[in-house]
Amino acid sequence: MFLDELPEFHRNVLEVLRQPLEDRVISISRSKSTVSYPASFMLVASMNPCPCGFYNHPQKKCLCPPGAVRNYLNKISGPLLDRIDLHVEVSPVSFTELSAEGLSEKSSIVRQRVILARQLQAKRYEKSEDIHCNVQMNTKLLHSFCQITVPGQKLLQQAMEKLSLSARAYDRILKVARTIADLGSSKAIQPHHLAEALQFRSLDRSDWAG
Ligand SMILES: [Zn+2]
Repeated sequence: MFLDELPEFHRNVLEVLRQPLEDRVISISRSKSTVSYPASFMLVASMNPCPCGFYNHPQKKCLCPPGAVRNYLNKISGPLLDRIDLHVEVSPVSFTELSAEGLSEKSSIVRQRVILARQLQAKRYEKSEDIHCNVQMNTKLLHSFCQITVPGQKLLQQAMEKLSLSARAYDRILKVARTIADLGSSKAIQPHHLAEALQFRSLDRSDWAG
């Protein structure tokens, strides 16, 4: 599901997404009964960095009044942001970069890497019922497949304290780091895999529009 201009949706509409994003089911309660339906989906959402659109722009100046950038981001609740694994800031691309050829990796090569990572995960979870990939790991599996070294633990602890991350964000960072390690065919989660996973939490950072 793709939601364009995420802050323009009413907050109560967005909050309904929390349950299916976490549990992959949606429960509907009425006075006499509650029914649950499967709701496994991938959420992709986009938003401007601020109301004028130029916050963090390399050339243009953001014209938003003080506090407006933060207020704009605050339209998305912390618990919903927690459930979005990858926050990616997309900076404007210059014409020279757009027209340059041969600098980026071919999609076919990336595809091969993704297929290999999915195969690794299929093997990892072959004995776990209804679990096929890293995002579906429960707490028990997280403990057995996402063990991290002492340097990795230190890095994560520093990041948790500095960025005031929640326990849910912590679990999700581990899962993303596990996937990054799989993409590099690495058995262990190394500190640089964790560092990369942490980079995808840009909207959790207290320095964003702070
Ligand atoms: Zn602005």
